[in-house]
Formats: sequence, C-alpha cells, structure tokens
Amino acid sequence: MLDIVGLSKLYGASRALDDVSFSIEQGSFTTILGPSGSGKSTLLLGIAGFVAPTSGDIRLNGQSLLRVPAEKRNFGIVFQGYALFPHLRVRENIAFPLRMRGAAAADIDKRVKHALGLVQLEAYAERYPRELSGGQQQRVALARALVFDPSLVLLDEPLSALDKSLREALRQELRHLHKTIGMTFILVTHDQDEALELSDRVAIINHGRLEQFADPATLYNAPASRFVAEFLGKSNFIAVQAARGSRDVLHLQAGGHRFEHRQPGTAPDGRITLALRPERLTLVNGASPEPVNILPGTVSDLSYRGAEVGLTVATDLGALIVRVDTSGAHAIPAVGERVRVGWSATAGCLLPESA
Ligand code: ADP
Ligand code: MG
Repeated sequence: MLDIVGLSKLYGASRALDDVSFSIEQGSFTTILGPSGSGKSTLLLGIAGFVAPTSGDIRLNGQSLLRVPAEKRNFGIVFQGYALFPHLRVRENIAFPLRMRGAAAADIDKRVKHALGLVQLEAYAERYPRELSGGQQQRVALARALVFDPSLVLLDEPLSALDKSLREALRQELRHLHKTIGMTFILVTHDQDEALELSDRVAIINHGRLEQFADPATLYNAPASRFVAEFLGKSNFIAVQAARGSRDVLHLQAGGHRFEHRQPGTAPDGRITLALRPERLTLVNGASPEPVNILPGTVSDLSYRGAEVGLTVATDLGALIVRVDTSGAHAIPAVGERVRVGWSATAGCLLPESA
C-alpha cells in the first residue's frame, strides 16, 4: 500500500501540488489524470524521489519514503524523455539496471530474456535504439523498468509521443502486462480514454488539487465536481434550486420548470447544478410511458458520428446536447424542429454549485 498524505509542493509562490491525499493498493493499476500543468508529473516525481515535497508524506507499507533516496526506492520508471542509451544495444539497455545492482551475469541473461519476452521484443535484442520504431523504443524502456522486479512501476505519459493506432496497441499491451506480472502500476496521463480503459482507480487532479479518486464507473456516473463531469466525457449542466421531497426524492426548480430527482444517500440541496450525460437524455415523441422530466426546445444543430447523432437542443434553460442512436425506432428531427427532451428521475447527478 502506498499512501500519499497531505502532499504539497510549492515552486516559489505557485502550488504545483496542494494537499493531495489518496492510497494506492498493492498490485493495482492507478492513473493520475489531469490537464497539462495540473501537477501530475510533480506528484509522480515526488513518489519516485526526484522532487522533495514541501509538506506531507509518502508512505510505502506504513514507512515514510521521504528520507529514502530515489535509487534506493527500487521503483521501475518510464518517464517522458527518460531516453534509452543510444550507444547500447537493446539487450544492454535492459540489462543496465541489473548491472547497477551488481547482479550476476547468468542472472542478468535470464532476466533480460524474460523482460524481452514480456514486451515481445526477443528478436530485437541486438539492435541499437536508432534501429527501432518509437513504439519499440517505448517497449524497451518498459522492459528496462520491469527487469529488476521493482515494487512499483511509475509511468509518465509513456504513450503520448506515439501516433494513435500505436498508442492504442501499446495500451492493450500495458494492460495485459499488468495483469500478467501483477506489479503495482502508477500511470500519469492527460488522456481520458487511456485512464478509463486501463485503471482500477483514477486520481483526477486539477491545479494541483485532487478532485476525485475513484474507479472509472464512479467517476463517470457520479462525478464529485463539475470539473470531473466535464473532463470525462460530455455533460449538460442545469442550475437548479433543490428542495427535499419525501424520502430520497428531491424537487428541483429551474426557471419556470420543475423536475424530479432521485439519488440514493445524501444529495446537496439549495442552489446546485444538475449534470446530465447526453446519452441519458431521450427525445419524447408521444410514446408512453413518458419520462418524469420533460423540457421543450428547438433543434439548433446536428452532428453525425456513425451509429449516433448528437443533437443540440436550444431550451429556455440553455442548450442541451442529446445523443440519439440512429438505429433506434425514432426518426431524427431536423434543425429548426420543436422537440421535447426527457429524462428519468435517476438519469442525472447533482453537484454543489461551487464545484
Ligand atoms: P503536468 O505533469 O500535470 O503537466 P507538472 O507537474 O509538470 O504538470 O507541473 C505543475 C506545475 O508546476 C506547472 O505549473 C509547472 O509549470 C510547475 N513546475 C513544475 N516543475 C517546476 C519546476 N522545477 N520549477 C518551477 N515550476 C515547476
Ligand atoms: Mg507532466
């Protein structure tokens, strides 16, 4: 278990990390996700031991790492621009961390062979880095990080320099590798899809602060803040005034409209925001049963994306994006057409207004 405890890092007056706390389970795949400049690399460099935090602690199995130098932490590292040695062959690059640790020659041979197998580069052992593609070089870097059986593998945007198809292929490989070897992986990325696809848990950071730490489904379906709701996929937001009805029902008011909302557990009340995913909205056209919430509007834009259409509907509470399945029973309305947008009482998620 790795505990990040109230971690802050100041550069002069600017806060790269601001009181970040979360815990990473042994053997899990955890992703640190956030926009550029949000503090992701600072956090990973802190865990690696290359950046000293201003305050807070980092604990591995209960022991503080702050006084342990980077080379003694025994973490496998693939950083941006942490390049391969150009004058060493693939085999020698991968052997390097083992030589640093004074491993015996026979042991080095065996481990390098195994690591080459993990990243499927057995046939490339005698090549130099310049004789490899970008994706192959990244795989060598990964093999070099895994070869000494580190207790933790830290990866800072290892795929971001690669083109899309290669990135997706390597993503699958990373996932498979994690499943196979069962080490703890911590990945930094600004790519939402990468984070959702690979991770057991995702820590979303923005301006150095932890916005939410949860599994992908929770982040998507129950975002804790407007930032998270917008950063992961698309969301519609409606400012509402909420009053508690009976049991878990909330009555929401916005403009002259009244909506019903149900959410298990506690929901914020007062002035809040209702977040609605485009795919949780439907177009209501006379068919029964009608959803409990209905808001009329006019289609102002249409965009086709293969199996679905994104409709923008102008309502008196602002524009709403509705995602409609083109294989469904309903005809797609035209721009200028009046429509009614509907959603169920459990379709949305309430966010505190300030979030
Ligand atoms: P990310 O990896 O999410 O893009 P970083 O952790 O690299 O973000 O940076 C977070 C913030 O800290 C940025 O505003 C960046 O400019 C600042 N920062 C990072 N490293 C340093 C440094 N060595 N000196 C001063 N400011 C830094
Ligand atoms: Mg970075």
